[in-house]
Amino acid sequence: MKLAIVNTTIILPEYMIPGGTILMEDGKILDFGKKLSTEGFEIVDAEGAYTGPGLFDIHTHADGDTFFTEDPAKTAKTLLCHGVTDVLAALYFNVDGETLIGQINSIKAAAESGNAPNIRGLYMEAPYMNPKFGCNRENNPWRHAIKREDYMPVLEAAAGFAKVWVVAPERPDIEMFVRDAKTLDPKAVFSVGHSEAEPEQIEALMPYGLKLATHHTNATGRLEKYPECRSACVDETALYHHDIYTELICDKVGIHVAPYMLRLIKKIKGDDRLILIADAFVEHGPIPADDLYEGADDINFDFMGEIAGSKMILDGPCRNMMVHTGASLCQVFKYASTNPARLLGYTDRGCIAKGNVANLVLVDAEFHIKHVLLDGALVK
Ligand SMILES: [Zn+2]
Repeated sequence: MKLAIVNTTIILPEYMIPGGTILMEDGKILDFGKKLSTEGFEIVDAEGAYTGPGLFDIHTHADGDTFFTEDPAKTAKTLLCHGVTDVLAALYFNVDGETLIGQINSIKAAAESGNAPNIRGLYMEAPYMNPKFGCNRENNPWRHAIKREDYMPVLEAAAGFAKVWVVAPERPDIEMFVRDAKTLDPKAVFSVGHSEAEPEQIEALMPYGLKLATHHTNATGRLEKYPECRSACVDETALYHHDIYTELICDKVGIHVAPYMLRLIKKIKGDDRLILIADAFVEHGPIPADDLYEGADDINFDFMGEIAGSKMILDGPCRNMMVHTGASLCQVFKYASTNPARLLGYTDRGCIAKGNVANLVLVDAEFHIKHVLLDGALVK
């Protein structure tokens, strides 16, 4: 199939092409630019909308309403209609090994069946976090000592399909787990999260492929070796090392990450190391009756009034990031597509380029989704 998007401003990582055309054939980008012939192509008139690469959410558990573990096809489809052409379904540490393996297998089956064509793999926010951190932490069946016989069946079920493993580097014997995961899948990425590790503990895992900080500034410890003196912990280590990408849950009010912090992190890390995530969860606790939370209807609360991720889909964080930091469309497409694709080692997506997969999203100037294309076909 040959399709052409005309009358669009093409968003590239460093600049834009107004009045542009994008030609696609057999699911790939054939060419893009100004004054291209569209003869023989079916036409999509963008009516002046901006076209960027499809969004890639590496960390979300749900669509704000349904977990991937409940209905992977439905959840994947809702995300796709919001421009998420690539997603890692996130699993959580609050279930035992047998349940986790069941979840891994059901999501893998949905991805392989073609019913969830945008699922690229799993984000394992499991099993070994620091039991002090995270919502639902009292249900952490993985709080006991790390044992090979407990985790090997999980690693084997997920190998190759799980792209990211989140770990708390301070847990005794975590290096054994990381080494085994790496042996089964040399391309696996490790992330520090739900942790209060010291810099040296995190740095010890960087040679294995630790290059991500899970929801930066959320569920991370704050070390104080001396009274009233802040020491370096997880967030500081992530800021210190240019090799570490930082995930950001960018909600409307700026509760997960305060707007000032977003601007600070953007300044320190630069445009190539930020990754926007939705980290959507499903709990239906009410918004706490406190002025602090006014308007926070895109955040998910549990029934204890504790924050439990978001209700967002990734187009929401893109809009919010523009509002809170003044980021441009070029920048937010980096944070929500280019950077996550690069982190995971994809070379065929994450930006508009000849030969890349034609996963595209058309938005207005404030990042409201107009159209979505998956493999060169219009899905919205
Ligand atoms: Zn999560």
